Amino acid sequence: MVNFLPMRSPLSKRQNAEFSSEIKMKIFEDIPDMQKFAESVRKSGKRIGLVPTMGYLHEGHLSLIRNIRKSCDVVVVSVFVNPTQFGIGEDLNKYPRDFKRDQELCRKENVDIVFYPEVPKMYPEGYDTYITVEKFSGIMCGVSRPTHFQGVTTVVAKLFNIVKPHIAIFGEKDYQQAIIIKKMVQDLNFDIVIETSPIIRESDGLALSSRNKYLNKNDRKNAVLLYQSLQHAKKLFQKGERDILIIKQEMAKMILQIPNARIDYIEIVAPDTLRSPDQIQERAVAAVAVFIGKTRLIDNLLLEQ
Ligand code: AMP
Repeated sequence: MVNFLPMRSPLSKRQNAEFSSEIKMKIFEDIPDMQKFAESVRKSGKRIGLVPTMGYLHEGHLSLIRNIRKSCDVVVVSVFVNPTQFGIGEDLNKYPRDFKRDQELCRKENVDIVFYPEVPKMYPEGYDTYITVEKFSGIMCGVSRPTHFQGVTTVVAKLFNIVKPHIAIFGEKDYQQAIIIKKMVQDLNFDIVIETSPIIRESDGLALSSRNKYLNKNDRKNAVLLYQSLQHAKKLFQKGERDILIIKQEMAKMILQIPNARIDYIEIVAPDTLRSPDQIQERAVAAVAVFIGKTRLIDNLLLEQ
């Protein structure tokens, strides 16, 4: 079931035209307009790069924009808070939104197109098609968010058909998501290159996230323990510890210093298969999801010598 929010008032054609003549950045709200434009770009031999986002942009998103620019001619940023990837009782309604600010940031980054559709345009009444990458979607974040990745793969597949990119970029912050998208692209033969981009962090190490806005001052200060627990895991690994259970226990001890923390999961997995062996071989990804109060934060770090 798609969860609908009240309709937002669309940008008037004049507003949009004024905006685009001033800054040369186009905003498309309609799917056929976006598709027609994408087709004309393709015909002209130019390469389209897509940066899918849910808006409320920060330096993490901007780094994706800067990175994809290196391998394409036309950068499209989609801004869409996708209802199908939120479960019942999750933060869809209060997810932060500020499209005016997002436009400004995109303009400063010389983004060519912002695709900004309304929910009923993406999911009209009677919408009934979903994509699931079976095995990868039921582990890690998929345990406590069982419908999340189905929503992600569905909206990304739709964006691929609408924006027609040659290349799309995803942040390593959502490590499992990037693996799942790559698998979908491989399994469904999308002719699209998937790139990933490193995690951008605050100066104390907290991974940037639109959800950090929910944290009060104290929780924000404590949230750095997530990254510190990952760094601790890396140090243990580099000192020769290979027992996953021991590393996970050490991480949990650190995270539980946060008084209102609830660990959703701590996993140490093989970077490609996301399988969790008893002993780490050469490399592994340590990944955490933790509720601080009501705010769920995720982070990960590659463990290697
Ligand atoms: P979101 O708007 O949260 O759906 O994120 C859109 C894209 O930005 C996803 O590919 C995320 O992985 C990526 N992203 C979000 N936060 C960061 C970050 N701190 N560093 C790098 N990429 C990020």
